[in-house]
Amino acid sequence: MTIALVAHDTKKELMVQFCTAYCQILGQHHLLATGTTGKFVTDATGLPIQRCLPGAHGGDQQIAARIACDEVDMLLFFRDPISAKPMEPNGMNLLRICDVHNIPVATNIATAEVLIHGLEHGDLDWRNILNPRG
Ligand code: PGA
Repeated sequence: MTIALVAHDTKKELMVQFCTAYCQILGQHHLLATGTTGKFVTDATGLPIQRCLPGAHGGDQQIAARIACDEVDMLLFFRDPISAKPMEPNGMNLLRICDVHNIPVATNIATAEVLIHGLEHGDLDWRNILNPRG
């Protein structure tokens, strides 16, 4: 499976903690991330991550394009609903394209935990039909 990671600045540390906690599961999958989120997670965990551009340079749009091509099987987007900076992706485009393509998406750590456990239990295996190379 291909799992995309995006975190607003105030949520990057939380993303690092999440990826550290679930390093073993995440390491079995292909990871894709916006530039800075990917660097933080790789530096902390050693997980190999395909890094897109930083969000402010269009990295979120690169991920949205991959979702539109059915090349992403899950999006973990830890967003800051209170104090996101103006240049940070507001996420509506990412969330909209996930809904268009029925991509499981979590916008907070509580839902991300449910998704990652579901992934481990095979609940997302149906995605292999749509994205066999994921
Ligand atoms: P980043 O992109 O991981 O490059 O910071 C996400 C964001 O801008 O919030």
